Amino acid sequence: MRLLLVEDDDRIAGPLTEGLARYGFTVELARTAAAALAAAPVDLVLLDLGLPDMDGIDVCKALRSRSDVPIIMITARTDEADRVVGLELGADDYLSKPFGTRELVARVRAVTRRTQAAGRQGGPAADRVAGTAGAPASWTGQADSAQRVGPMTIDRRTHRVELYGRQIALAPKEFDVLEYLAQDPGALCSRQQIMDTVWDPHYFGPTRTLDVHVSALRRKLGDPAWIETVRGVGFRLIDPTGGAT
Ligand code: CA
Repeated sequence: MRLLLVEDDDRIAGPLTEGLARYGFTVELARTAAAALAAAPVDLVLLDLGLPDMDGIDVCKALRSRSDVPIIMITARTDEADRVVGLELGADDYLSKPFGTRELVARVRAVTRRTQAAGRQGGPAADRVAGTAGAPASWTGQADSAQRVGPMTIDRRTHRVELYGRQIALAPKEFDVLEYLAQDPGALCSRQQIMDTVWDPHYFGPTRTLDVHVSALRRKLGDPAWIETVRGVGFRLIDPTGGAT
């Protein structure tokens, strides 16, 4: 899936581009409104509202006047009026700075699902569908917020986890680690990917922090087999009941 990131600040664009690439997105960068409007068609636009040559709101309007490409506004502005205007002009969602890569990816996927379900034409439909093929299958065809992995239900909206219908109390970072692993059950997630996403790309603290959280998760889930350790590499989420996910 190809994204156009319209952002003039390299300190934001750099880490964002790297983060999105780790999730399999191809990111084209436009540092000005002019470059954004001249860019080749993409599957989704991430649009910063504070641009040097033109107001992002006007870029949104111009993009929408010629295509149905999904648009997520990125704004440092706290002014709600901007968001409302942007949404009225056809933006699909907005995200306020600062935000994490994980949150952005969740929004990108949600907007993509929504616009596909609405049958909108932002680019060739086949491309859009193929674009989600890189995403874990568990993300597609699911309600927006809840995901089942065997007897476990993870609700991203409420941050609640249930196992056999009973709620498991998790600390925020424990939830984030579990939620990250659950994006693609069975897939190997490297320690670096997890650290970068759940903590921060610039987190240089002890990596033992991750092991502590994984240990706590195993204990709370009542079966260490839920999270398999791949020595020296990372972790994967396994449904120990062997049920289809
Ligand atoms: Ca800016």
